Amino acid sequence: MESLAEYKEIVDLIKESGGDYFKRCFQCGLCDTVCPWNRVRNFSMRKIVRQATFGLTEIESEDIWRCTTCGRCPQHCPRDVRQIDSGVALRRIATEYGVFPDPVKPIKTIAASLVAEGNPLSEERKKRADWAKEAGVKSFEEGMEILYFPGCYLSYDPRMKKVAKATAAILKKAGVEFGILGTKESCCGESIRKTGDEELFKRLARDNIKGFIDNGVKKILVSSPHCYHTFKNEYPEFMVNFEVVHITQFLVELIKEGRLEIKDGLEKKITYHDPCYLGRHNGVFDEPREVLRRVSGLELVEMPDCFEDSLCCGGGGGRIWMETPKGERFSDLRLEQAIDVGAEVLVTACPYCITNFEDSRITIEDQGDAKAIEIKDITEIIAEVI
Ligand code: SF4
Ligand code: SF4
Repeated sequence: MESLAEYKEIVDLIKESGGDYFKRCFQCGLCDTVCPWNRVRNFSMRKIVRQATFGLTEIESEDIWRCTTCGRCPQHCPRDVRQIDSGVALRRIATEYGVFPDPVKPIKTIAASLVAEGNPLSEERKKRADWAKEAGVKSFEEGMEILYFPGCYLSYDPRMKKVAKATAAILKKAGVEFGILGTKESCCGESIRKTGDEELFKRLARDNIKGFIDNGVKKILVSSPHCYHTFKNEYPEFMVNFEVVHITQFLVELIKEGRLEIKDGLEKKITYHDPCYLGRHNGVFDEPREVLRRVSGLELVEMPDCFEDSLCCGGGGGRIWMETPKGERFSDLRLEQAIDVGAEVLVTACPYCITNFEDSRITIEDQGDAKAIEIKDITEIIAEVI
């Protein structure tokens, strides 16, 4: 009887946490067929769904933390089980009880850093705009054309700061009147929400929304597909609506309006990786390719898993902060795909993808692979040819 009561409690908790869609599942197994985890190890979303239906979820298991929220299985599920929402519901329960298996434990430090400093990287808030001083970027003022929201990785991470600077250089060249909120900017909160910390997400979202309203922001330019997704699709839950544009979309706009001219060519074979939160989740597939095609001499080739079938880099759903052992990293597979199609540069448009691919590149070089490949953000390519 005791265990039944326990099961009931979990079922109720799942339901309360928004996981009511589990019971639609009829166990067809399509989710497991398309899940990238099954290219590197066994993992069954179908089983997680089944267990949750009966309240048998092992909250302490690492499995409920594996989903990268890549969006592949919801795209294929015939019963609209909404695996991402349901999986986040399970993580909410684990987070509430403070149950984190070892590889997931970094989340605690991340959450503390987000509370104290507004970023997941244990960096000081007062240093958030240091990159901008070096790049001569102004603070946002009401009436400017656009607010540039670089996000946490581009503000602090040494590799990603190069992307923030490339973006600023492009905007200046195109004569865009823009500024940043700098120390008044906080993490968008997308990834911490996917780890189940709803309260912290709400706190970060409210801080940002207040910053946008207080400063008269109307249009926001983002570099990260995660910021894009949450500003566009999740912040409206707070009854606000800002115009949000991803840099790949803005580049097309600037080129079409004749404000940005691509003057130089680039004789390189390039492949483009669709980030899950830009492509599959938000349908932005054509704009990055359109921008790259405008560079003369550049040969754009596609990898086997592209557009809506793109292979996740492994960084979504908070996985960017969790430990993934060598041999289980999707980014290693993606890099091999890029090398196999003969690309000299793997281009993408997401800080998590770049971080993971740069890590994989080191692994591949360590293995003595003769073919070194460059990893670049699309802005780094465009900044070279304008
Ligand atoms: S694809 Fe949907 S219906 Fe099929 S097993 Fe997975 S969750 Fe269940
Ligand atoms: S969303 Fe992606 S990573 Fe998560 S279970 Fe589905 S296919 Fe796997």
